[in-house]
Amino acid sequence: MTAAPLVERLHITLTGAVQGVGFRPFIYRLSTELALSGWVANSSFGLAVEVEGAAEDVACFLHRLDRERPSPAVVLTRDVTRVDPIGLRGFEIRHSDDSLEKTAAVLPDLATCPECLSEILDPSNRRFGYPFTNCTLCGPRYSIVLDIPYDRPNTTMRAFALCADCLREYTDPADRRFHAQPNACPKCGPSLASSIEETAHTLASGGIVALKGTGGFQLLCDACDPAAVARLRERKHRDEKPLAVMMPSIDAVRRHCRVSAGEEALLRSPAAPIVLLDPLAGPCMGKAIAANVAASSPYMGVMLPYSPLHHLLMRAYPSPVVATSGNHSEEPIAIDNEEAIERLAGMADRFLMHNRPIARPCDDSVVRVARGGEYPIRRARGYAPLSVAIADESAPVLAVGGHLKNTVAIAVGKQVFLSQHIGDLDTAETRRAFQSAIADLCRLYEFEPELVACDLHPDYASAAWARDSGLPVIEVQHHHAHVAACAAENGVREPYLGVAWDGAGYGLDGVIWGSEFFLVRDARFERVAHLRPFHLPGGETAVREGWRAAASLLCETFGPERIPDSFFPAAPHRAVLLRMIERGVNAPLTTSMGRLFDAVASLAGVAGRSRFEGQAAMALEREIGSLRTADAYPLPHGDWSPLIEAVVDGVRRGLDRALIAARFHNALVEWLLRVAGEVGVERVVLSGGVFQNRYLLERAASVLESNKFVVHSHRRVPSNDGGIALGQAVLAGRR
Ligand code: ZN
Ligand code: ZN
Ligand code: FE
Repeated sequence: MTAAPLVERLHITLTGAVQGVGFRPFIYRLSTELALSGWVANSSFGLAVEVEGAAEDVACFLHRLDRERPSPAVVLTRDVTRVDPIGLRGFEIRHSDDSLEKTAAVLPDLATCPECLSEILDPSNRRFGYPFTNCTLCGPRYSIVLDIPYDRPNTTMRAFALCADCLREYTDPADRRFHAQPNACPKCGPSLASSIEETAHTLASGGIVALKGTGGFQLLCDACDPAAVARLRERKHRDEKPLAVMMPSIDAVRRHCRVSAGEEALLRSPAAPIVLLDPLAGPCMGKAIAANVAASSPYMGVMLPYSPLHHLLMRAYPSPVVATSGNHSEEPIAIDNEEAIERLAGMADRFLMHNRPIARPCDDSVVRVARGGEYPIRRARGYAPLSVAIADESAPVLAVGGHLKNTVAIAVGKQVFLSQHIGDLDTAETRRAFQSAIADLCRLYEFEPELVACDLHPDYASAAWARDSGLPVIEVQHHHAHVAACAAENGVREPYLGVAWDGAGYGLDGVIWGSEFFLVRDARFERVAHLRPFHLPGGETAVREGWRAAASLLCETFGPERIPDSFFPAAPHRAVLLRMIERGVNAPLTTSMGRLFDAVASLAGVAGRSRFEGQAAMALEREIGSLRTADAYPLPHGDWSPLIEAVVDGVRRGLDRALIAARFHNALVEWLLRVAGEVGVERVVLSGGVFQNRYLLERAASVLESNKFVVHSHRRVPSNDGGIALGQAVLAGRR
């Protein structure tokens, strides 16, 4: 006689991005296959599962749960509790339980999957040519969710009643559209207000199209038509900042850019971000991308079609198109039909709209590959609102971020939920978007902050909001937040050397910092090194006019009497400028690395002005090209005087600009290595917008690593100010 098999019952909870990705049908199929009984339910913290059956089948279930789960799912924690068997019968998918704490991750919007794409291209399929096709593996999520748990009545799809066919798919656990909340077809779902063919015609004739995309309106025009691109720039008031291009296929991308395996994987990922690529030099096959698309950048921002609507449009018009957010420069992206017609009327020649409401604005994300992995520049569609897991339990903190490239964040337990990119808080529109992003995050997660974390800066709009909130405020120094964000997402333990190089952040001494080395331990920082401070004549104006920083450094290096003429503006500016620098009138002190880049770019004749933040630094990086040298200018203890002398000498002798640019970058790396050696802690964390410079980041990391340092850089949030809300949340949540 054989013994009855041992029966086990497990209660399993999963947290993370586990809703709306086909997790429940997957568990249903797996349990049924293994003849296990039990149930699965979405809950407000994620997913709850119970299985009961033979011990070995239960073990097999756990094993396959990890290995075969749906690809878009992100499991943050998996808790398994053994409970007494109670003789469960059958397997059921239970109704969502919304009584518990709401920390279930809302998924980001997911790019169209291959199965759905083949359906919309198949004339015999009922979804042929249907631009709102989706399934449990793809389609809109964050852009349609109004509340959690993520169920259809809690989305902007609630106005569309499922037809009989769609309902059958939606309720059949074996169907790949089982509980696909935005499920729709031409009979029952959203529809377009105008035709794709006419839109293609507008593009072909050089017109500008406003397309209602996933997270907001985009402005499109033919990327190979310089006149159309010029028109778009003029109407959008965007003079030089690079524009992103949507290309019909990966083959089309290869015709215009160099694409590594890692870059291709990012382009084709469910997030489908804009990826910064190296454009191919020389003439390309077919039509060239117009020079005015991204002339001021060493890179081209490229993405693939990510929604059925984009796929269908790119079939009708198979040519690269500029795809930029539908707004005036620096305003939030338009999401509402009436609002778009009003705001974009002067910009677009045609609208391609539909009646699926967008719950919140979410721009296209921007990433690049650096150090062999993903390096975020702008985190929005496809990423927001995924959380970042942190090491310690946090107090309920709302972090309101910085001023430029603002994002906000909330800390819940061991997770920080980061908003999508909001923008620069200079306009009333962006400040409104900032406030609604805060309200939105708090409502979605039923979150009540006990603390607000903000920047130390006295004039940031975000900090002013925090101080008016009526909640206890914790001010976090800007660069401390930068390095804490990078440390948090990498799980770096203290002590570490935090290196924060950027344009500007308010320092503890009221000086504008920006080249900071912090020894971070016990949640406090000690400022161990920085550039020698210099005056910035004209203050803010100097951000756009790099020659001002150059003038100041020349004056300090050579003395006002002996400034080399060819590098300095002529009278009458000269006298005024010298007075400003000498007396420090309207010439605040700074240790900004960004401004040192501007100064060197100006002296080297690469760029004397910047139309957008970082333009001069990008131009200087581009000068290096493929040159590889270990030569470096002197930068003893962060004193730039010998460096400025050497740059001036190089320019006078007609030295190759590539060499000047490389020696300057190398000087920064050598200084970094020296400071790291002096501080002597093993872990080095690199943050701040200056590290978006790939040459600098990769060289710094490899030089440090070959000297036995362990180097961490950003992988989940931007190194620019878009990432500091995470650092603020982590630091404030610990106190
Ligand atoms: Zn799909
Ligand atoms: Zn239908
Ligand atoms: Fe910064």
